[in-house]
Amino acid sequence: MNTLRLIHARTKARSLGYNAVRILNIYKRYGLSNEKVRKILIQFVTDIQRYNIQPTFPVTASVVRRTPTLFQSLEQCGVEFALHGFKHIDYTQLAIENVHRHWEQGLAIFKQCGLRNHGFRFPFLRRDPLCLNTLNSHAFLWDSSDVISWPLPKTLLIPQKRVSDYQSILETYQVKDARENVSLPYFIKSLVEIPVSMLDDDILVERLGFGVEQIDSVWQSIFEETYKRKEMFVLQLHPERYLECKMSLLRLIKKISKMTDVWTPTLSELALWWSERTKAIDSIQIKRIDGKNYQAITNAADRVTLIIYNNVKGKEDSMFSDEWKPVPSAYRIVSRVKPVIGIVPECISKYVDFFNQEGYLFEEKQPDTRYAIEIDHRSSDSPVVEFQSYLNSAKGPLLRVWRWPRGIRSVFAVTGDIDGLDFWDYWIRFYGN
Ligand SMILES: [Zn+2]
Repeated sequence: MNTLRLIHARTKARSLGYNAVRILNIYKRYGLSNEKVRKILIQFVTDIQRYNIQPTFPVTASVVRRTPTLFQSLEQCGVEFALHGFKHIDYTQLAIENVHRHWEQGLAIFKQCGLRNHGFRFPFLRRDPLCLNTLNSHAFLWDSSDVISWPLPKTLLIPQKRVSDYQSILETYQVKDARENVSLPYFIKSLVEIPVSMLDDDILVERLGFGVEQIDSVWQSIFEETYKRKEMFVLQLHPERYLECKMSLLRLIKKISKMTDVWTPTLSELALWWSERTKAIDSIQIKRIDGKNYQAITNAADRVTLIIYNNVKGKEDSMFSDEWKPVPSAYRIVSRVKPVIGIVPECISKYVDFFNQEGYLFEEKQPDTRYAIEIDHRSSDSPVVEFQSYLNSAKGPLLRVWRWPRGIRSVFAVTGDIDGLDFWDYWIRFYGN
């Protein structure tokens, strides 16, 4: 990519003034050697490991190549790294053969340095379908470049100018609104996509100018919402701003560490779980065992939880609503209706991703079978996001594989891109190649 094209792409994402201030801040923060950031990184890791949380840091391969021993020693302590490009550039602006070359160079550097690598995050969280295809052709388990944006707490009073400023940066991320989307992993071909939750430290500190109390309020409210919705909060904090956000992060982590129903995996652990759960869904067999009853059998690992709607009523359960109840992996269901969704073939493509993501069992509607709930052209008019409540109107028992491992209600993970360790890394980043 030539320099003019790169600068154009960068200024489209963030203004030149913003970049100038940011580089000045980075110079002040890090200086010319990596000594300062080395200490901050180690402090970040040590602080959160105290609460049994391992962070996942996507890092550009050019940074790893300059300081391999730091990353090797952190990995030995349990920290997880992922590839964040070969250089910190906008890959949507690069010819596709060069994108391939960068992934290969990046993977080779990780290998030479003895670092494991299962995942990827696009620099600036910017990607396009072509770039995603290249990832699918390399051996990555997951990508984490999707962005889900949570609304600001209503109690925070923010000048309109600042709100429009942060909204303009969110637009460059092709963000999904949390009010209309679930915050859950999903598959893009063979890749597990793990959305990052916004607002992150970049927007909170640089764009909104927030201090500790306000950052607290934003992150606590995102966590409360994901806990209530039984979803996932992947918190992004660039190590370069760890000291500014440390108090807020640690307050939240301290609270979460006391909750037994919140899982705090690395992003690879999360992706492995999502693959395991998907295999479990595929393995479930529903058999008619006599004239009246069905049996659901799965050979999935113990931590995969089958839940059933509308079968056991009036019993309280701390994790699921009254209507949903966890069941054993081999389960006899007294029911004349098949405990899955029966759907007309024309509507399958509209809902297949939703059913797979949410763990609903479904099949093409057969004329001689009665189902827990049926979906035809009329019932498929409602948008996917409203579909959950329609499914809750099922007349008979309906099986579902729960989102998380046994006993888990919601997920919290810590991630943060390492775009550079000293001023020179950032200088190279700004000017690309
Ligand atoms: Zn980055």
